[in-house]
Amino acid sequence: MEKLIRGLHHFQNHIFSSYQELFERLAEGQSPEAMFITCSDSRIDPALITQTAPGDLFVLRLGGNFVPPYGVSGGESATIEYAVSFLGVKDIIVCGHSHCGAMEILLHPERFSGYPAIQVWLTHVEAIRRVMQNYADRPEEVRQAIAVKENVLLQLENLKTHPTVSAAVAAGTLHLHAWVYEFEKGKVLAFDPEEGQFLPLRKPREEF
Ligand SMILES: [Zn+2]
Repeated sequence: MEKLIRGLHHFQNHIFSSYQELFERLAEGQSPEAMFITCSDSRIDPALITQTAPGDLFVLRLGGNFVPPYGVSGGESATIEYAVSFLGVKDIIVCGHSHCGAMEILLHPERFSGYPAIQVWLTHVEAIRRVMQNYADRPEEVRQAIAVKENVLLQLENLKTHPTVSAAVAAGTLHLHAWVYEFEKGKVLAFDPEEGQFLPLRKPREEF
């Protein structure tokens, strides 16, 4: 805790002043660019990798960036509904990442038999576990990487079970994105539905 408290004092005494104007403006209300759903993993920092400021991203963090289907969990459903219906975010990014501990659980559930909440979580990712049986002969590292991608794609499907999401997607006012962040390389891959694969994100057109 000492490190955190020292950091807090440093923020208050040396950093906050440069953000004061922004935060005073944000006190009037937020209008985030996007909802960013990612893992709770300590190595993932959405604002760092997207170089966004406070107020830009509405963030939902859950182990394994798991988005429960509608009705499974009130908390996540309410957060998604608030972001889409009330704040009117135009994009939702589900961002998985390399070396995700949740993928180890998914691939080796037997190692986590003594963890009751994890056992419940596993019932929700059964679809990915079934898919992963097709890759049983691949090396562990490859299986982990495949599981990360399969997982974010499943989470997009889970997102669509939320009525607010499916309605906004159908109306063309909301777009869903599946990303995989390889933090040790600083690289982000995005699923390209036309190509049917994950590809490096291209710069927006105006920056060419
Ligand atoms: Zn993770």
